[in-house]
Amino acid sequence: MKERFFAYVDERQRRYIDQLGEAVAIPSVSSQLDTHLPDIQKMMEYAANFIQRLGGQWELRDNPDGTSERPLPPLLLGHFPVDPRKKTVCVYGHLDVQPAHIDDGWDSEPFVLTERDGKLFGRGSTDDKGPALSWLWVIEAHKELGIDLPVNIKILYEGMEEYGSEGLFTFIRDEHDKFLGDVDFFCISDNYWIGKSKPCLTYGLRGLAYFELIVQGCEQDLHSGNMGGAVHEAMTDLIRLMGTLVDSQGRILIEGVMDDVKPVTPEEEAFYDPIEFDVESFKEEAKVKSISNKLLHGNKKDLLMARWRFPTLSLHGIEGAFSGSGAKTVIPAKVKGKFSMRLVPDQDPVRIEQVVRAHIAREFEKLNSPNKVELNMLHGAKSWLSSPDHPNYAAAAAAIQTVFQTTPDYTREGGSIPITTAFEEATGMNALLLPIGACDDMAHSQNEKYNITNLMNGIKVLGMYLHELGKIGGPKPSSCRCIPLTEEELMVPGAFMKGFRCKCEM
Ligand SMILES: [Zn+2]
Ligand SMILES: [Zn+2]
Repeated sequence: MKERFFAYVDERQRRYIDQLGEAVAIPSVSSQLDTHLPDIQKMMEYAANFIQRLGGQWELRDNPDGTSERPLPPLLLGHFPVDPRKKTVCVYGHLDVQPAHIDDGWDSEPFVLTERDGKLFGRGSTDDKGPALSWLWVIEAHKELGIDLPVNIKILYEGMEEYGSEGLFTFIRDEHDKFLGDVDFFCISDNYWIGKSKPCLTYGLRGLAYFELIVQGCEQDLHSGNMGGAVHEAMTDLIRLMGTLVDSQGRILIEGVMDDVKPVTPEEEAFYDPIEFDVESFKEEAKVKSISNKLLHGNKKDLLMARWRFPTLSLHGIEGAFSGSGAKTVIPAKVKGKFSMRLVPDQDPVRIEQVVRAHIAREFEKLNSPNKVELNMLHGAKSWLSSPDHPNYAAAAAAIQTVFQTTPDYTREGGSIPITTAFEEATGMNALLLPIGACDDMAHSQNEKYNITNLMNGIKVLGMYLHELGKIGGPKPSSCRCIPLTEEELMVPGAFMKGFRCKCEM
């Protein structure tokens, strides 16, 4: 089957590029709904028609968060049922894109897919129209070749991803036991390799706790010529408090913050050695070359761990402070310092808030200031950690092995992809992040591109992944009613790397 499938895909390269060009030509920009809502609608219909041609069931579901004042694009639900006893995979993608204009510095029209040196330039080429269409091309190849699909496939494509996935989270919550009720595995292809040539699987994402620290010293802004020396200044307190949070080596100075951070196990550490990652080229990305040419960590492993699996604290800004050019002698009345922490397993945003609150109270006490201080956590999200040992990951790794003749790198990311946690929390089923674009694809940026090799190999990997899923034995995880692992079982060293939720998955 593999040879026929690969040969079929290879023959269709020109057709795939043309079809991706049709999709890229639809400017489905979700941050500009007033002008582009019809384009997103058109793009959803384009994909729906494709599913129709492939003989699948589909529905354009009204966006549950849309209103008559603020209409939102629908969600596209597709279904290719094979056999209810077989495993079901839900593939997620998005058909909306970031804004783009040639004047932003593109070398060719962003909504005209343009081929140069084996690369396909165009907005949405890699994020995420290329990967989203690839699933349909895989199904098309099976249909044309008369090969049975090895698993039931459900398609969930949205049109608001680049603008906070409005409506999607409501849908997932409402449909966890309906459209998503028989889903055994999720697969999300909407992130990137860490390198340019070696595929990877992403098994962890950091969470976030975002704070605002307010200090108020008086009712309105004052002038230092008048009041300097007379009042307790809010800025002075705020700067001192913010200075107690983190040091210049990036160490978080808040007592108790590291208490729940999972220790690094030897199994985990072993993942870092083979990873395709170059510290020197990362310095270019970090834009430090002409300044200091230094990062907080000089070697690959420490740098990746600091970005992926340890918490960090960043100071972002001060609202209410003088920030213009020139010399203004104002004493700001009320200032709000903004800072956030990237969280890792097993840090809980609720406990982090308590720890930060206690720290601020202690430090403020030391200042002996009569000013008003207030701390708010504006946003809290847990980190996400899956397991390379999970059958869903193992299936993807085997597919990569078949196509690339190499084991993938196992990577995490420093940011968050909220949909991942949403799927897992709503259904209890495993979500896999299976990137097929390269690290230099410039998603969201000028000259976004998708390599033709990534396009072609991506289709093959997604196809082989379905066949690997089809080989997984045992009952459908979604119909499993067996007992989840106990807290103690999860505490066994290394158990978190396994990521199993219940005994029948072991
Ligand atoms: Zn995306
Ligand atoms: Zn994006």
